Amino acid sequence: MTDTSLRSSVLATVDRFCHEHVRPAVPDMELTAEFPENLYRKAGELGLFRMDIPEELGGIGEDRVLPLLAAERIARTSPAFAVTFANCADVLTPIIAKATPALSSSIVPDVAAGIRVPCISMSEPLAGSDVSAMRTRAVRVKGGYRINGRKMWCTNGSVGDVFVVFAKTDPDAGSRGISAFLIENGAPGFERGRDEPLTGLRGNPTSELVLEDVFVPDSHRLGEENEGFRIAMLTLDSARLNAAGMALGAARAALEIARSYALERQQFGKPVFHHQGLQFLIAELAAEIEMCRTVWFKGLDAMGRGAARETSAIASIAKLLCTEMAVRVTTECVQVMGASGLSKENPAERLMRDSRTFQIFDGTPQIQRLLIARHLVRDGLMTF
Ligand SMILES: Cc1cc2nc3c(=O)[nH]c(=O)nc-3n(C[C@H](O)[C@H](O)[C@H](O)COP(=O)(O)OP(=O)(O)OC[C@H]3O[C@@H](n4cnc5c(N)ncnc54)[C@H](O)[C@@H]3O)c2cc1C
Repeated sequence: MTDTSLRSSVLATVDRFCHEHVRPAVPDMELTAEFPENLYRKAGELGLFRMDIPEELGGIGEDRVLPLLAAERIARTSPAFAVTFANCADVLTPIIAKATPALSSSIVPDVAAGIRVPCISMSEPLAGSDVSAMRTRAVRVKGGYRINGRKMWCTNGSVGDVFVVFAKTDPDAGSRGISAFLIENGAPGFERGRDEPLTGLRGNPTSELVLEDVFVPDSHRLGEENEGFRIAMLTLDSARLNAAGMALGAARAALEIARSYALERQQFGKPVFHHQGLQFLIAELAAEIEMCRTVWFKGLDAMGRGAARETSAIASIAKLLCTEMAVRVTTECVQVMGASGLSKENPAERLMRDSRTFQIFDGTPQIQRLLIARHLVRDGLMTF
């Protein structure tokens, strides 16, 4: 993206939206864990889902970097709503790239306007990190496929309207036997199941999906048959940079709260910030955030230049470093505030819980290490 004034103006709108709408919605999300439908619609009205959608599909045609920057900012106020926001772009990537023009234009403009909630579903009870172990099966029938299976941990699944669902079309071919399909809520046999009672991200449901003999016409297959794994990979690099950015946002917000608290709170006759033992800890947390931010920006830069292999390698490194950092920083920020840090009324406590989840979706730290090692074998040291 070259239009920096447009970028600044969109991000200023995001900041205003966070201040005026997200912040007031957080207590209710924490209390009820319900999806904030009004907040979602408001984000749609403000055009926040349009950023990287092509103009002919109702977007403003910016690159993928802008929504990543926006998600980092939203996470400073609510990681849960940031995940909802980020998930939209992650789901639309395969739809825009691989759906037929007719299917795209029947789905994408409504998502861009915040009218329909999109979801993506790969994981299953027996297939988490190992996507190729999925059991959901799509069998060819006249005019399309019949799909049977059970999916797990689908972000916004219980409130979703359109779903990119992955299923095996050639069960003996491992990851090369997976295809991607677009299923709309209401399709006979398709059921949005219960929400998992996970720690963190309250207000961002993570749900089960049940598919019983769901008919999906050929027109709703994304890309070629058995191209599903490659399609999943299309979205994973930006999804990993998204998770890294949201982790940075949460860590920064927690540090801001802890810093202010430590400058106010007096013990032994002075603000606790000025006790060197605590001051050095806070300084190290700030340094860690800045170091991780540099790696993240390197990933955004690679993505903005369209350098695919470089983006992929840095996305894994950023996901690993930023999410591990966020867990450490938010936990230490709670420590800085003593008992007050543990209060449910203290946003740092929520940020600590939310940060834990960033380490799980879009590839755990163990899986990121594995991917980084693969890049090292294939491309050597990353001296991009
Ligand atoms: C909040 C949230 C939102 C999610 N949203 C979605 C979504 O929208 N769509 C979707 O499809 N999925 C989603 N998921 C699921 C997520 O992608 C999986 O949880 C993730 O891939 C890990 O799978 P798992 O939980 O089954 O863990 P497992 O794969 O069972 O792993 C268990 C442990 O083993 C480790 N491990 C696994 N394999 C290896 C290995 N080869 N080497 C070393 N260690 C290994 C893991 O790192 C982990 O510590 C979401 C999960 C969460 C928590």
